[in-house]
Amino acid sequence: MPTSRDYYDILGVGKTASVSDVKKAYRKLAHKYHPDKGGTAEDEKKFKEVQEAYEVLSDQQKRAAYDQFGKAGAHGAGPGAGPGGAGFGGFNPQDFAGQGFDFGNLGDLFEQMFTGGFGGGGGTRRRGPSRGSDLQMTVTIDFDEAVRGVTKQVSLNRRATCETCGGSGAAKGSKIVTCDRCGGQGQVQVTRRTVLGTMAQVAECPECHGEGKRPEKPCPACAGEGRKQKKETLTVEIPAGIDEGQTIRIQGAGEAGERGAPSGHAYVIVHVKPSKVFERDGTMLGVTVPISFPQATLGDTVEVPTATGKTTLKIPAGTQSGETFTVKGQGMPKLNAAGAGDLKVTVQVAVPQKLTAEEKRLVEELGRKEGPKPKKGFLDKLGL
Ligand SMILES: [Zn+2]
Ligand SMILES: [Zn+2]
Repeated sequence: MPTSRDYYDILGVGKTASVSDVKKAYRKLAHKYHPDKGGTAEDEKKFKEVQEAYEVLSDQQKRAAYDQFGKAGAHGAGPGAGPGGAGFGGFNPQDFAGQGFDFGNLGDLFEQMFTGGFGGGGGTRRRGPSRGSDLQMTVTIDFDEAVRGVTKQVSLNRRATCETCGGSGAAKGSKIVTCDRCGGQGQVQVTRRTVLGTMAQVAECPECHGEGKRPEKPCPACAGEGRKQKKETLTVEIPAGIDEGQTIRIQGAGEAGERGAPSGHAYVIVHVKPSKVFERDGTMLGVTVPISFPQATLGDTVEVPTATGKTTLKIPAGTQSGETFTVKGQGMPKLNAAGAGDLKVTVQVAVPQKLTAEEKRLVEELGRKEGPKPKKGFLDKLGL
């Protein structure tokens, strides 16, 4: 039964303690509480705690799992769960290097924890070679590219189908033989520590991954895995109308599966650089256009920018500064659909800062005659 105390506390080391610090602390405490010294029952209990803590904290993978998931994590991987097997074997920190974060492995991790971890002896599901991991990557595009759609090349490192063996994992001419580890059963007995204590369980055979058979001579190029690390270029078709943070799934473009198992998928997260001209809200684009006082007063037809070019907009006479006009269908293209959103044009009446003598005279004249003057008593109301 795992102790309820924190492993770091038991060994009296910090969370960042090195392996050698962990070892040092363990040796000291194990010596102190060793049953051969004929101590009390309490000492014996402490000795067991120290051993348990050491077992986890001295193992890089178990320690990482403990830090992240607590005790259930560290003990999900029972003895016999070798690399690629049940439990944390499939969790390889190296998978997180390279192209972004790999959700596939996390998915596998949880699946293994819950199907292989606490099955209660009910037998494990028979699984073949494991499916390839999903990959996640990001690509950044310009606003204009989001308007028109674009094709991007993304380079990535992934485990791809081994060309030497075509993914079978077998050396040329090698026979497929019965797995000797499990005698063709695809399952092996393991002793697991669980929250209920130590129990014997049936787990997937780590050698053949539940298939019961394996190549007699593994492919020398991929060590029998059927896949190999490879630098590749992925072509990503980004549709018009894509928005910031949207993800494109490319089926089967993730890592190759083990020995011919299905590939994972690639998930490309698209970052769209903001436009220098438009505000965007989904398919709606907003733009502010300056017009002159005479244009606002008398009305005019002005050119306004659209997502793909420009169009004309009729400004009615008597338009106020800050008024917004809608131009239908000139906004952002709809994603994977026909048509586009609307363009909202907000006009701003520009007040000239430099006037010629003639212009000044005209404005002064306007001020005396037709100019928009505050009504009588308006200033008094404001308390001015
Ligand atoms: Zn191969
Ligand atoms: Zn086997």
